[in-house]
Amino acid sequence: MTIAIHPQIDSGSKPAIEGFSGGTLSCKCSSNPVTVSIGAQSAHNHACGCTQCWKPVGALFSQVAVVSRDKVSVTSNEDKLEIVDPSVGIQRHACKECGTHMFGRIEDASHPFFGLDFIHTELSDEEGWSPPEFAAFVSSLIESGTSPDTMDGVRARLRELGLEPYDCLSPPLMDAIATHTAKASGAL
Ligand SMILES: [Zn+2]
Ligand SMILES: [Zn+2]
Repeated sequence: MTIAIHPQIDSGSKPAIEGFSGGTLSCKCSSNPVTVSIGAQSAHNHACGCTQCWKPVGALFSQVAVVSRDKVSVTSNEDKLEIVDPSVGIQRHACKECGTHMFGRIEDASHPFFGLDFIHTELSDEEGWSPPEFAAFVSSLIESGTSPDTMDGVRARLRELGLEPYDCLSPPLMDAIATHTAKASGAL
């Protein structure tokens, strides 16, 4: 049996379209959905196995990307949004009714990813978003109740889909975080 990673990834991710410049994310409410306009192509799209990111029903992973926060604007039903957990570094703004996370924002200016919002491009009907490039926080699936015995199969399936599995972020992103830390401490 094939392991289901994420509905959009399992069916084969579509390639990015050159010149694509964003679209509109809608929550899952059938009436008065929250809509968020994204005015740029997404970057660093990836599958994420952490316990914080929003996952569609039945999915093992979330699919999450970043975009500059000045390209993100709530265009309708903003009053339905609430911050899931204000105490964590990435504040996920979710619809109170359907629970969909519309964007994750960092308010701490010293955070390595300050200035970037986290978004789920599957919430948009437009095609042309950057496809996922790797899988992050794979071992964290176990924290959500996935049996450790199935992890070899999960990693094998991710590789089959062209998504190299990492138990943190990808090496270029981990290097970016370490560079930020080193510059802040004066080591670099
Ligand atoms: Zn909703
Ligand atoms: Zn995550």
